[in-house]
Amino acid sequence: MLANLQSKNQIMKIIQCMDDERTFYEIAVDILKYMEEYLNTSHAYILQKNFQQKNYNVIIKYDRDELYEDLTTIDVPELKICGNSLVYVEDTEEYAKDLQLFGAACGIIAPIYINNAAVLHLLILEKCTRKFTDTELEYVENVSLILQAIAQKKVTDRSMISTNSVLQSILTNIGSGILVCDVEQNTVLFKNTVAEFSEENIRVLSDAMKSIMSGKEYLVPKRPVEFFDAESGLWFDVSFSRLQWIDGREVVLISSNDVTLKKKNSTRNAFQAQNDFLTGLYNRMKCEIDLKKTVEQAIKNNQKGAVLFIDMDNFKNINDSLGHDYGDALLKEIGTILQGIPGLRNHCYRMGGDEFVAIVTPENLGLLKKILTNITTSFNKPWYLIDSECYCTMSMGVVIFPENGTDVNSLIKKADIAMYEAKRSGKNCYAYYSEQANDSSYRRLEVESSMRQAVEASCEEFVVFYQPIIDTCTNLCTGCESLVRWDSKSLGFIGPGEFIPLAEYLGLITDIGDFVLETACRQCKEWNEKYNPDFRVNVNLSVVQLLQQNVVKHISELILSTGVNPANITLEITENLAINDMERVTAIISGLKKIGVKIALDDFGTGYSSLNYIKQLDFDVIKIDKSFVDEILTDDYEKAFVKLIVDLSRQIGVKLCVEGIESREQYELLRNLQADSIQGYYFSKPIPAKDFEEKFLG
Ligand code: C2E
Ligand code: CA
Ligand code: CA
Repeated sequence: MLANLQSKNQIMKIIQCMDDERTFYEIAVDILKYMEEYLNTSHAYILQKNFQQKNYNVIIKYDRDELYEDLTTIDVPELKICGNSLVYVEDTEEYAKDLQLFGAACGIIAPIYINNAAVLHLLILEKCTRKFTDTELEYVENVSLILQAIAQKKVTDRSMISTNSVLQSILTNIGSGILVCDVEQNTVLFKNTVAEFSEENIRVLSDAMKSIMSGKEYLVPKRPVEFFDAESGLWFDVSFSRLQWIDGREVVLISSNDVTLKKKNSTRNAFQAQNDFLTGLYNRMKCEIDLKKTVEQAIKNNQKGAVLFIDMDNFKNINDSLGHDYGDALLKEIGTILQGIPGLRNHCYRMGGDEFVAIVTPENLGLLKKILTNITTSFNKPWYLIDSECYCTMSMGVVIFPENGTDVNSLIKKADIAMYEAKRSGKNCYAYYSEQANDSSYRRLEVESSMRQAVEASCEEFVVFYQPIIDTCTNLCTGCESLVRWDSKSLGFIGPGEFIPLAEYLGLITDIGDFVLETACRQCKEWNEKYNPDFRVNVNLSVVQLLQQNVVKHISELILSTGVNPANITLEITENLAINDMERVTAIISGLKKIGVKIALDDFGTGYSSLNYIKQLDFDVIKIDKSFVDEILTDDYEKAFVKLIVDLSRQIGVKLCVEGIESREQYELLRNLQADSIQGYYFSKPIPAKDFEEKFLG
């Protein structure tokens, strides 16, 4: 289609040569040049047959690089390739000798008739083997007809009849709309079939004609003009050329080419090359281009700017639990939100997956603080997707240029490092890049590879510690929480705060989680048999673990296989998960409860759940996060909050456990508030099983 269009445009260019006053030789040289440009062939000849001497004169030899003006003679009585009609010749037995003579492997040969005799031959040749398409053959044929018209005109001095019929036959078959008008008399002298029968061409050509006939003087645009036909929704390139008509009067030839497809393709390609299909934001490529420009400009003007790297914290969960439609809807929504933040319009990019980048240009740098808070608050509330509400927070890394770097890739990488640093410090946070962060990114890589190895080596390096949970009524240790540690051979002792988020990110958490669950259940069984049949062990389940396929079956089987009494096992689920997808979480929880385990809602107060959810989800225990008791002795709000939760949980029949108790005063206050159980360093830090057994069970 495009090739066709190009060929039409080329033909139009060549048609314009028909009115050229120069010699045939001069015009033909130009035409050969156009042809070669379009066909991308190596060389071309125009030969004239000398009937008396039975040889050929080379009128023009045109080479990509050289033009030979000498009129050489080729002494052969007959060239097989020069017949009476257009041929496409290849290196076959019949033509090999001729082609060799011209140093070609293939070509198209067209006769040019003057007064009914094939006097000239146009040879389009190619050194290498190649195939010519039908469009290309047709093109050569059309050009040979034009050359013929020009030659005939020169020879017979405007022999009207022959030129007219040739011209008409060419113009009729050309595919574009053609209209020849006498502007002075305001009459149409010629229309080809397209101009006569295609409605959109009729409209466009008549508009085009009107456009050049404003007033007495008429102006003919030198370049093609774009016309839009509203009725058909099509675009046309309209070109105008002044010609001397066959009868000698001056006319204007107007041609219309439908360029809709080409236009659509080129705008779509330009759009696709720089835009993200899903969100409509710019993509990574455009980000790199823009960032490079912005940084260069900033350096030149001695200014600063920033790059923000934004990554979703639990996007995978949304995709896994709600499905891709929801994931897509969320990404779109995020795109819209980012674009709407003052200072970020047209500076937001989706880098792929759930990663976004925003450039804060020097002009907007004053807004940086506001932009950062704006983004954090946008992610601090639920997203309404399709038909449900879910939470998805982000972590964001910030780099300042040129301070932190000038190279586009290293800036993006450093922003990514800072983002990971933010991830470690909790959800929905941002962090500025620092060299330390850079160091810790090396550590992250080390941790990553060691962790993979440790998991492959059947989790032998992982150890489970236990922290007592004290009943406030009896002051006795009635249970404990199991908390994993990693005693890495290569990296030393690592706390869960450092490696659990990475394990979740790498998808290793399921293996580690299974290991902890199994160890804790076996431990519980052992202690139940040895000391207290009602002693309970809590086990943390990661969101990622819970959203696995067949999670209920998997966890149930694992627990039952250890032989523990399920009633003594409490699974802790963090609050954020609990509300993402009510239906699914409800099903998982009730599935797990069927085997008899208890479910606790962990980190209550840090997320977004309302007590209503807790009631619906049938939790057995609520664990109030440490952050709500840190200042409880001095902060009346904290005290009121905990008191409220104590009262409400009693009403809905859920037990309350308060975490992070570090002092006697805190403990006493909570006892007075009548929290059911308490956990914290005040009693003990998490300790190895053996120590725990000695201290709390023996
Ligand atoms: P969490 O589930 O909220 O666990 C309680 C954390 O608070 C534990 O940190 C515990 O050592 C700490 N803690 C308890 N009492 C006090 C106190 O009085 N003062 C202070 N400052 N801290 C106290 P730990 O063991 O470092 O675990 C951190 C987090 O790692 C846990 O938070 C949990 O989210 C995660 N985690 C730990 N073990 C596992 C596991 O086996 N599986 C999963 N999925 N997550 C785990
Ligand atoms: Ca916990
Ligand atoms: Ca907790």
